[in-house]
Amino acid sequence: MNRHKRKGLMWFRADLRTVDNTALSSACSRSDEVHAIFIATPMQWHEHHVAPIQIDFIRRRLVVLSEQLAALGIPLSVIEVADFDAVPDAILSFANEQQIDHVYCNKQYEWNEIQRDHHVGQCLLNNQIKFSAFDDQCVIPPGDVLTQKGDPYKVFTPFRREWIKVYRQKDQAPLPRIEPKQSVSDHSSSVNPVSPLTLEGLLTLTYPTVDSMAWPVDEEAIRQRLLMFCEDKVRDYHEDRDTPSIDGTSRLSPYLATGMLSPRQCIAALQPFFPDGIVEDKQGPFCWLNEIIWREFYRHLMVAFPAISRNQPFQPWSRRLPWLSDEALLAAWQQGRTGFPIVDAAMRQLLHTGWMHNRLRMITASFLTKDLLIHWQVGEQWFSRHLIDGDLASNNGGWQWASSTGTDAQPYFRVFNPTTQGEKVDPKGEFIRTWVHELQDVPDKYIHQPHAWPEAVQGNVLLDYPLPIVDHKQARVRAIDIFKTAKEMH
Ligand code: FAD
Repeated sequence: MNRHKRKGLMWFRADLRTVDNTALSSACSRSDEVHAIFIATPMQWHEHHVAPIQIDFIRRRLVVLSEQLAALGIPLSVIEVADFDAVPDAILSFANEQQIDHVYCNKQYEWNEIQRDHHVGQCLLNNQIKFSAFDDQCVIPPGDVLTQKGDPYKVFTPFRREWIKVYRQKDQAPLPRIEPKQSVSDHSSSVNPVSPLTLEGLLTLTYPTVDSMAWPVDEEAIRQRLLMFCEDKVRDYHEDRDTPSIDGTSRLSPYLATGMLSPRQCIAALQPFFPDGIVEDKQGPFCWLNEIIWREFYRHLMVAFPAISRNQPFQPWSRRLPWLSDEALLAAWQQGRTGFPIVDAAMRQLLHTGWMHNRLRMITASFLTKDLLIHWQVGEQWFSRHLIDGDLASNNGGWQWASSTGTDAQPYFRVFNPTTQGEKVDPKGEFIRTWVHELQDVPDKYIHQPHAWPEAVQGNVLLDYPLPIVDHKQARVRAIDIFKTAKEMH
């Protein structure tokens, strides 16, 4: 009997891996032949401030992914369309051309992506093509961690407790490796093999100075990074994680943000530390797991409160905050010329590498929103345009946390002191000296307040380094006053 051949299409988005990929596993197990597609939307990326370094990273990964998929008998095509509006037609015409009967993908939770998928689903269904979208970005899907009353959590600690309970009840092991399919031999004209030049044109956006080469994209290297972190560093994570001069965090965020690695794989690598299941404690492995759960928390919030991904503050009262607009101060922050060494070192690390240490993200975000009173969305956008790990949920969550406008955010009256924070996280100024070369020769005693170094002794050493652009003490009082007033008007 000549049975109808089931042809599936795997639509890759923020899940650029073959291992532990729910949609891909499903496509493979339910189809006789599988094709894969990635749709680049340069206009959309530009409008949503996706960093060119992240685009470069994705571009490099697509080349590797296409080779891996080819070994599984799955051809990957990369199609470029201007923006999300053009996606439904692009998928439909590809599906028609390849006689696809079922399209598979993993859900994305941002507002625009949800709308796009809704339109794609409708368009395919109207043409008798099935469409399945799976929860895969989180270990526990959004909507599955709820209060007794069935509401979403707005505070992290109870969310984490419930998350652990739900986790214990579910089988969360990574999916088995997929078996190779019979090769798709008759590629038709629309199959665009992925070459190193694919998407090269997308890199003509701003900020071409940093490429992503410091971040390997082959699967084995990513796996090794995770395993080495769990073998060598995770035990001390609780002690080292706040010291930027120590390489004490995993630096896996770019892989998690683009789906080159799944959070399930991360937790599986932690299993040896939890032979009897997850137990809350203050040790490194749990502390690291806690961060993975923060990642989940922000995604769950984004689904429960879609306004978050539509540029709205979580706390309505915060709309009354009289944010300032000062181009000179903003530029000083962006370029790392505020006169506060830890802030400047962090901002230059971001400019030169496309990545910034978590503690420093908190300090620089607090500085922009509290000391300079510049809107958190301005900072969120700048981070997004420069981070290799840019991710709407975590970036927005981090900014709204630091600016006290989010759920379970830092209380508004706690304002980071950039000088004492520097002394705490970089006592000898090693990190500062790495990034702020003007301060190379400043003695430890003055490294956090170079302007306090007596002029008679310093000579010309500090000529190129700016004086502090604000008086932190006064800025703190101003911020608390303004936040208090906005909140009390509620
Ligand atoms: P590790 O310390 O090794 O943590 C492991 C993983 O847990 C990370 O890779 C990340 O996926 C997750 N994680 C860790 N901390 C957080 C957190 N606070 N919130 C959510 N997830 C977390 N993270 C992003 O991935 N993309 C962003 O765009 C982003 N923007 C941020 C903006 C601000 C203002 C702040 C305060 C934080 C932001 N974070 C963001 C969270 C955090 O700073 C980074 O995830 C972390 O620095 C990445 O380094 P790592 O991989 O070594 O983390």
